[in-house]
Amino acid sequence: MLKGLMMDYPLTTQHFIDRATTLFARKEIVTKVGPNTERLTYGEWGRRVNQLANALKRLGVGRGDRVGTLAWNNTRHLEAYLAVPSMGAVLHTLNLRLPLDQLAYIINHAEDKVIIVDGTAAPINCVTLLEKIKDKLTTVKHFIITSGAQTTLSPALAYEDLLKAESDNHAWPKLDENEAGALCYTSGTTGNPKGALYSHRALVLHSFMEAMSDGLGLAERDVVMPVVPMFHANAWGLAYTATMVGAKQVFPGPHLTGPDLLGLIQSEKVTVTAGVPTIWLGILAELDKNPGKYDISSLRAMPVGGAAAPRAMIEAYEKKYHVPILHAWGMTELTPVGTISQLKSYMQDLPEDKRFEYRSKQGTAVTGIELRGVDEEGNAVPWDGKTMGELEVRGPWVVKEYYKMEGSSDRFHNGWFRTGDVVTIDDEGFISITDRTKDLVKSGGEWISSIDLENAIMGHPKVLEAAVIALPHAKWQERPLALVVAKPDFKGQITKQEIYDLIGTKFNKLWLPDDIVFIDAVPKTSVGKFDKKVLRDQFKDFKLPE
Ligand code: AMP
Repeated sequence: MLKGLMMDYPLTTQHFIDRATTLFARKEIVTKVGPNTERLTYGEWGRRVNQLANALKRLGVGRGDRVGTLAWNNTRHLEAYLAVPSMGAVLHTLNLRLPLDQLAYIINHAEDKVIIVDGTAAPINCVTLLEKIKDKLTTVKHFIITSGAQTTLSPALAYEDLLKAESDNHAWPKLDENEAGALCYTSGTTGNPKGALYSHRALVLHSFMEAMSDGLGLAERDVVMPVVPMFHANAWGLAYTATMVGAKQVFPGPHLTGPDLLGLIQSEKVTVTAGVPTIWLGILAELDKNPGKYDISSLRAMPVGGAAAPRAMIEAYEKKYHVPILHAWGMTELTPVGTISQLKSYMQDLPEDKRFEYRSKQGTAVTGIELRGVDEEGNAVPWDGKTMGELEVRGPWVVKEYYKMEGSSDRFHNGWFRTGDVVTIDDEGFISITDRTKDLVKSGGEWISSIDLENAIMGHPKVLEAAVIALPHAKWQERPLALVVAKPDFKGQITKQEIYDLIGTKFNKLWLPDDIVFIDAVPKTSVGKFDKKVLRDQFKDFKLPE
């Protein structure tokens, strides 16, 4: 190799803290707390990030140790987001909407040593969730509660007391950019959730991409409100990118209703806010119901993804409220952004219909990511906008294997990651997701495992077979429908209620099928698997109850 090259300067999250605190110390981070807001500057926040790192170190958190967070979007969560990876430990964000047995599984699988728990009183209370599974947790040494909430978790420490006792100067260690910084689990089609372990390099390069104009164009002048949860796919990296560029950040906490979010957009002059379609459909309804009530003219872009953004929604926001939706596609395994639908310069003059057609697609690969569609033999399909193939991707922020998981090599193919999404790619490189090979239901942005539901229903002594399929839903995008076959002796002698009684104890409400239909037999493929394609077709016009 030639000599005389660049410095060996690692790409790490430490750089984000450094920029935010030295260049943008006066800029604000705002969190909604009940009817009020809690405000901190990056300068104050940075001192707390140092204190948190010192406190975690004192509790024995060392290089590579996993620190869990179970929390809504708020400033303290952002403290953990930066302190944990920057001290050389690994931030493991826990999804508070997971079924309890899966939550316990991922904490044990990741071997979380400490968990920082949001003490905010909210419809889903993080402290209560952990109390329910505490006896199953085998590795956690300390719970740090962010409020003074009473708890049976033990040993439990108060976040603010811990910080108060520490110096606001932490000696950040020299890190390698290929060290792990963060860990997120995603629901698997079968079996347990799978971990995507992000390197510092991936986190930083992903943020560079988001700051590019043809990425999300996030800049210092933006006011960024991530509505997408910080416990799901790292809030799409927005919290990191906003910190890196010194943008003001606004966090809604657990307050996710239309009036709450619209109120924040108006009062904080939010310019970029991102989330799943379900949230923006709700906001659209609130805006339509109250003409002139909210001023959202500050918004310049609304990245929407996690599920397909309906074209009617994209058109309505643009035409009625002058807010451009940026349709994006991503996955936990991609840190998570892979494509964004940005019109090319020569597309701006296309007829309106054509422009919306492109904007409703999931877009082109962002800088850094390569993609292709492959057929069943593994050959690339043409970019003709018609031929379907499974989407495969590769790039510096795509996982190359799942964390501590043998037997997942079928998801990787000659150096490409197989996404499980089925796409067409047009001659401009825009992908359209047309189907999914993954047997999962995505409701309001969160996964529901059909197979877990089926197994639970088939645990009923009167049930022979059960198949769960996703049906389209106006608000939630998809909702589960259970199709159940009774054992011959119990035909006509089993009620829906008996099944709900059984599964209602195992899953939270979000997971329960919207309806249960008894059928004579589940159609099977040639190899005897449930043929969901046939079922989806049979029930495509089925009306779920309101
Ligand atoms: P997750 O890892 O939970 O973020 O889920 C990733 C999956 O969500 C993808 O593989 C897709 O199936 C789905 N998804 C994400 N974004 C979109 C989108 N814009 N349109 C359709 N499906 C999407």
